[in-house]
Amino acid sequence: MASRDFPIQGFSSLAIHAGHEDDPRHSHLTPIYANSTFVFDDAEQGMRRFSGQEPGYIYTRWGNPNMTEAEAKIAAMETFGVTDASGSPLQVDAILHASGMAAISTLLLSNLSKGDRVLSHYSLYGGTQDYMNRILPTLGMEAVIRDLRDPQQAEDALARDPSIKMVYLETPANPTIQCVDIEALAEIAHRHGRIVACDNTFATPYLQQPFRHGADFVVHSTTKFLNGHGNIIGGILLGRDTGFMRTTATKTHRLLGGNSNAFESWLLVNGMKTLELRMERHCHNAMEVAGWLDTHAAVAQVNYNGLPQHPDHYVALRQMRHPGAMLSFEMKGGLEAGIRVMDSLRLCTRTVSLGTCDTLLCHPASMTHTSVPREDRLRYGITDGLIRMSVGMENISDILNDLDQALAKA
Ligand SMILES: *Cc1c(COP(=O)(O)O)cnc(C)c1O
Repeated sequence: MASRDFPIQGFSSLAIHAGHEDDPRHSHLTPIYANSTFVFDDAEQGMRRFSGQEPGYIYTRWGNPNMTEAEAKIAAMETFGVTDASGSPLQVDAILHASGMAAISTLLLSNLSKGDRVLSHYSLYGGTQDYMNRILPTLGMEAVIRDLRDPQQAEDALARDPSIKMVYLETPANPTIQCVDIEALAEIAHRHGRIVACDNTFATPYLQQPFRHGADFVVHSTTKFLNGHGNIIGGILLGRDTGFMRTTATKTHRLLGGNSNAFESWLLVNGMKTLELRMERHCHNAMEVAGWLDTHAAVAQVNYNGLPQHPDHYVALRQMRHPGAMLSFEMKGGLEAGIRVMDSLRLCTRTVSLGTCDTLLCHPASMTHTSVPREDRLRYGITDGLIRMSVGMENISDILNDLDQALAKA
């Protein structure tokens, strides 16, 4: 594999090589370490490992070589070409988790204590929103929700409320593909002495590197585009303050117990090697689909940050390499039309989630958001006829042909 000091120039080379350590038994790929514990040569070594004097694995809840490889690869991609305040390559630490939600738990619970608040945007992943509304209050913490597409709202909230410790961003966000300006919000937060975390799941580090724009923490659901094949659940927390990551965040993670496992870490490493190729194809197809839907007579509106009429188009252009692979569109025929389109699909897949090889469609009003009162749903932009799409890597003509016949039945 690549020598440690080889000057890698391109993202795909990094995605393929970064994080790999040569195997002592010369296996080409890192073997799957299916073991709970690691043994010590003698009691002295056990003591040195526990005290941190000697690096090495102890117990798999605390980490193993497959997890380390995934962590190192994602850290390398999130910091590729990014420098710190002194102009040196940025160093961050990463902790792999069992899910995106486990990573978000560690982030929030290691940074916030009783009485603290977190400022966020109203359009967030449903699980994150639920976590903020249901779990944080039981611990004496609270979310403050504003429209962060308007940075002045962050400025006002932070100036007024010293108990806000963290600004939590997600961009692009689900399902309206709203984007917030990471750099502007990080500048405001840091001026007020607060920290900034960003959920980078929809974009991946190939399209967007929040550390470059000032974020202190980055989280991902690796379940989605990072792994890319829909065969694992995983998450990661990355942090710029390596001291904090190695102490407080590591301790919180180990005690909450949301660790990943050898097999899923191994699949993730495998999946990430093709991240650049996959994202290029996903984004190319998404642009084609968005343009096609935009001219379709049965479609009232297309939400895609690559279209110039999307309200956050310019924010997306500033901080992303390409607009992503996620879009949503609204059927003129409302709920009935949405259901008919879903029922008529012949190639694309009817499911929740995102970031797999195949194209996925979901209809929030009849699926993920059926339990949400209609008025609340509408307030978050989730209208009756809204369909969300994770555009896959099939040949574009097949995707368009399937949509064409499905929309004709609406
Ligand atoms: C899926 C998702 C999560 C949660 O991740 P899990 O792996 O399902 O726990 C968090 N944020 C975003 C943006 C997501 O899409």
